[in-house]
Amino acid sequence: MITVMKGFDYRDNELCCEKVRIEDVAKKVGTPFYLYSQRSIIDNYRAFDKAFKEIDHLICYSCKANSNLSICRLLKEQGAGADVVSGGELYKALKIGVEPKRIVFSGVGKTREEIEYALKNNILMLNVESIPELELTDEIAGRLKKKAPIALRINPDIDPNTHPHISTGLAKSKFGIEISRAKEVYKKAKELENIEVLGIHMHIGSQITELEPFVDSLGKIVELIKELEKEGIELRYLDIGGGLGISYKKGEKTPTPKEFAKKLLSLIKGLKYRIILEPGRAIIGDVGILVTKVLYVKKTSKKNFVIVDVAMNDLIRPSLYDAYHEIIPIGKSKVQSPKSKVMVDVVGPVCESGDYLAKDRELAEVKSGDLLAILDAGAYGFSMSSNYNARPKVAEILVEKDKYCIIRKREGYKDLIRGEQEE
Ligand SMILES: *Cc1c(COP(=O)(O)O)cnc(C)c1O
Repeated sequence: MITVMKGFDYRDNELCCEKVRIEDVAKKVGTPFYLYSQRSIIDNYRAFDKAFKEIDHLICYSCKANSNLSICRLLKEQGAGADVVSGGELYKALKIGVEPKRIVFSGVGKTREEIEYALKNNILMLNVESIPELELTDEIAGRLKKKAPIALRINPDIDPNTHPHISTGLAKSKFGIEISRAKEVYKKAKELENIEVLGIHMHIGSQITELEPFVDSLGKIVELIKELEKEGIELRYLDIGGGLGISYKKGEKTPTPKEFAKKLLSLIKGLKYRIILEPGRAIIGDVGILVTKVLYVKKTSKKNFVIVDVAMNDLIRPSLYDAYHEIIPIGKSKVQSPKSKVMVDVVGPVCESGDYLAKDRELAEVKSGDLLAILDAGAYGFSMSSNYNARPKVAEILVEKDKYCIIRKREGYKDLIRGEQEE
């Protein structure tokens, strides 16, 4: 048995998830599909939870990483709350019965309708990201005759050394309230009649693979908390966001939740705050794969292309962030003969040159009909997929021991025209 990822290994030369042969799934449901290991999702959640066990904390799973109802429900059953960034995500979280008092709502552009929806449902708090949003929230709460529970999202101006598109805690980014103005905004919030100031929030970016940016930011936030206390502003919740990265490349070292917690706990142990955590990728990223079939192998004078049946609309991370995903054959006999490795681009059928899954990659030689697994695709995979090129969205499968369940049906052509005028 050779382990490939959490919950995934080769047994008798065949890639399996828990006790399910992936080729068997492909035969039954066709390709492509996302496939997740239930055991590993639970293990990831529990590892995170355990790492913070010595302090009062709440893990609000960041739904945007993967908001499939079955996955959110599984995490809810483990005790997770939800971190949502839109009315749609709030709807999904409520739909599966996440307790409103375990839901936080972030985002720079909450609409009037979204704020109203959140207030009517009595969520734990809205993480407010600007003064105009604060004023609108106050106004809406007043009309609803409620007090809006809020935290202010503070931008600590720290470079998390991640891809610029997923870096959110620099002064030039659109997120949060500048730390230099934080005190002033807290004072303003305190004065607003329909606002209940409950907490402080930070989230500095995603796929962060070092601990320093977290430590530096949290250090600044803790300092700010002390200054606020001196001014008589006492809070109850410290929300330190998500962002912990996973290892996409073999051999790449990333901090474990335990190491992450150890560093952060040393900064916050003395505080009497309830700590909120918003991990997304660290829970679901490394426990899901995207399974695809080789359509054609095309050799040109410059390159070898492996053309597969998934494309940028199914997994946009390579095209969008130049992200690296390991790609391996479902049948291992191929992996074992390094002699047969060739340099290829793995590309999809979409009509864009930016449509690729891997570039200049050494891959075991494959032929039409072979199955491949794109690894570590559980987070920001399906949730970022689209219908571009009028391609139906792929199926999602959840494996539990020797069973698997289709947790999202593959879309059909009918789904592509829903809501449009047929005549
Ligand atoms: C995206 C996001 C997260 C989750 O980030 P991960 O990198 O997936 O852990 C948490 N909090 C907020 C506010 C977010 O926008």
